[in-house]
Amino acid sequence: MRIGQGIDVHRFGDGDTVCLGGVKIACDQGLVAHSDGDVVLHALCDALLGALALGDIGKHFPDTDPRFAGIDSRELLRHVVELVASKGYQLGNADITVVAQKPRLAPHIDAMCKTIAADMNTSSSRVSVKATTSEKLGFTGRGEGIAAFATVLLEEH
Ligand code: MG
Repeated sequence: MRIGQGIDVHRFGDGDTVCLGGVKIACDQGLVAHSDGDVVLHALCDALLGALALGDIGKHFPDTDPRFAGIDSRELLRHVVELVASKGYQLGNADITVVAQKPRLAPHIDAMCKTIAADMNTSSSRVSVKATTSEKLGFTGRGEGIAAFATVLLEEH
């Protein structure tokens, strides 16, 4: 078995939706990013790559590469999942925590788990997404951005 962890942060900017865990959620701001700014999927990709010591998302999908401008992060995740499979591993489980003062995420957690599980060719019982605020403390608490933390366990095929 291999374990990996990943962290991502994006700051708020213009817009009216955020994309988290592959799910578009209405918000009074969007997230500034080269891609769609999906911190949940970016943290998850980094955890998967980290588990196999394959570098990080910036190495595989450089934000200087125009091919990745505005890309749907689900495509990045599916690419990473293929890479993991090609190395002989599959997901044991993933546990992800999103820290956001806004928008309210509780109604969207189930859809995020299902979307992630579908892109990882696994059961949603292996995917956990949790959300918390930071009690108005720090950059997340001030509503300046959203952070996500992911931990994964991979099993050999
Ligand atoms: Mg990112």
